Amino acid sequence: MSRTKCGDPTSIGFTGQGTDRPAEYTHRGSPRYDITPRPLSSYPCFVFDLDGTLWLDEHVLTGAHQLFRSLTRHGHKILVYTNNTRHSHNEVHSKLQRLGLGLAANCIYTGSSLLGRALNRYGIQETFVVGTSSLKCEIQRSGVLVLDDPKVPIDVLTIGLETGFDDSSLANIVRIANQDTLIFCGNRDRDFPTSTGPKIGSGRIVAQIESALGSRHITVIGKPSVFGIQALAQDHHLQPRDIMFIGDNYDSDIAMAKEYGCDSLFVAPPTPGRTPLPTTTLIAIIERLEHSHEST
Ligand SMILES: [Mg+2]
Repeated sequence: MSRTKCGDPTSIGFTGQGTDRPAEYTHRGSPRYDITPRPLSSYPCFVFDLDGTLWLDEHVLTGAHQLFRSLTRHGHKILVYTNNTRHSHNEVHSKLQRLGLGLAANCIYTGSSLLGRALNRYGIQETFVVGTSSLKCEIQRSGVLVLDDPKVPIDVLTIGLETGFDDSSLANIVRIANQDTLIFCGNRDRDFPTSTGPKIGSGRIVAQIESALGSRHITVIGKPSVFGIQALAQDHHLQPRDIMFIGDNYDSDIAMAKEYGCDSLFVAPPTPGRTPLPTTTLIAIIERLEHSHEST
């Protein structure tokens, strides 16, 4: 799938479905991602990205707790889907509870757990892993053997975010893999937001390995691939029209929703040069949600 560049309005389609969208959806010639084609009360399920959407590190973003309470009070299902491959599903589950955003374990989708699920789906029995010990444990838990001998040639390589990945790590991958090695990665995100500013994402590692091996194809499992949201929809018996996806990254969250065919809201803060599209806030979403329920 080609990646859509944020800021190129000609390459961006409307995220909503159907043909009866009102004229207000056109904003200075560009589709809008701060409003939705239907009242928010009509979406049975809200799916949230995490980093930059509900929290930054240990800081819960303004409106997140209130929005969870409002959605719960009105009977909407809440799910979260993060591209995070650094932490295991259990670690993300615990953090949500610790920060007062507790959800059932089966309502949480992480890049790490989806990689394990995807390897299983593709019938992979063993893989070498670039990533944290949490990612390796997650993949082991899914029933796939994680190889740890850095000298034995490999058939399958799985890539997550490993902050210590350096030239010697890359040289090792070149020694044990080649352009025919099957490669799965969590995502190609350039960066991810933190409380001290963006940090480099696993896209750098994927690009370095891709370039060094001359790989022909790398399978992306996380956003903007639709693998995760299809899994989520299957698990919870949802159709695309049931889902409202809320995220802060156009290239992963919004592009994925568009590809999958569900509606989405873009909550990134307007940053010069990064988010030229209209965005909204969690507080504004609460107001619209409450208003749409009062009107029905
Ligand atoms: Mg995010």
